[in-house]
Amino acid sequence: MNIPFLDLKKVNEPYAEQMRQAVSDVINSGRYIGGEVCVSFETKLAKKTGTDFCVGVSNGLDALRLIIEGYKVMGKLNIGDEIIVPSNTYVATVLAITHAGLKPVLVEPDINTLNIDSSRIEEAVTEHTRAIMTVHLYGRTAYDHVMADVATRHGLLVIEDNAQAIGAEADVMGFGGKSNVTGGLGHAAAFSFYPTKNIGAAGDAGAVTTSDRDLADAVRAISNYGSDRRYHNIYHGFNCRLDPIQAAILSVKLDHLEEICNYRRQLASLYDSLLNPDSIVKPRIPENERTHVWHQYVVLADKRDALREALASKGIGTDINYPCAPHRQPCYADTLGMNDYPIADYISSHCLSLPLSTALTTEQAEQVAKAVNEF
Ligand SMILES: *Cc1c(COP(=O)(O)O)cnc(C)c1O
Repeated sequence: MNIPFLDLKKVNEPYAEQMRQAVSDVINSGRYIGGEVCVSFETKLAKKTGTDFCVGVSNGLDALRLIIEGYKVMGKLNIGDEIIVPSNTYVATVLAITHAGLKPVLVEPDINTLNIDSSRIEEAVTEHTRAIMTVHLYGRTAYDHVMADVATRHGLLVIEDNAQAIGAEADVMGFGGKSNVTGGLGHAAAFSFYPTKNIGAAGDAGAVTTSDRDLADAVRAISNYGSDRRYHNIYHGFNCRLDPIQAAILSVKLDHLEEICNYRRQLASLYDSLLNPDSIVKPRIPENERTHVWHQYVVLADKRDALREALASKGIGTDINYPCAPHRQPCYADTLGMNDYPIADYISSHCLSLPLSTALTTEQAEQVAKAVNEF
């Protein structure tokens, strides 16, 4: 048996011919920065998220960072302000906050959803809190009326880290009242199109969505040397633009978002029906299946490392997302590392991601489930 955790070549195979054509069109166009290809991708993503504006950027970390920098030039965030963020996220979410000179305040997740526990947000709010950076971890929407209510009462911005949940929905409408889709729930959202994400580029890429025109303008300017027009710099900007070759590739794949989400849900419910819950904790299938797009299918196991080895010995690849929570990273040892986050620690020492992608066949998923059950 050989079931890799993720076979990216196979993931892209159904679109490879269209992707090649799209790249070839960019090469033939003679325009290699910005242009119509980027605009058309941005328009498509704004439409899919029910937002008014989308700015394509270089990657997911930059998307998060640019949102904060955008709010800084607008005067809505300032150095030293606190941003609430889940204690179990990929380190990039936290890096974006500290890079910008703000302070991450970690809130523990709900062990059932592995997303930030909305009921614990309010106790973390101080007079310095200005935003909640919610993370739709593993593809499950992390936005509900409790979060919206706390944010409204305390005047907090809600920033979505939507690197993992493109296409997922919430049970409630987002802030503008226009969208219930991730990317359109908070005041602004960051996307990553890192190759392993549900919609992956052939390299690095990202985007910001928002219905706030001032933020969109600020993010676009800051991502382009801080210039609002050529050779006119209003901010100390960066170069964090989306590459048109990636935009062209992403436009092809974005057209297939719905079928990609549906197939991932099909695999998750197959795992759910086959996996024996005696020795592992299965992720809960949400009541509304549209609130999850299954970026990862993560089980919790007491003998996680032994399970991983047993699967590897049968040729089944798995991954650990993530083996070390941000507060345990050496770079945060003398700041975030000073506090205890036992739920985040528990998850990082017990979680195991099983293969789940559009390259995985249902037969392969059955073999994976059988191997887990045998263990
Ligand atoms: C992938 C990811 C990022 C970073 O995106 P890049 O494009 O790799 O910079 C940020 N947050 C989360 C939750 C991610 O999964």
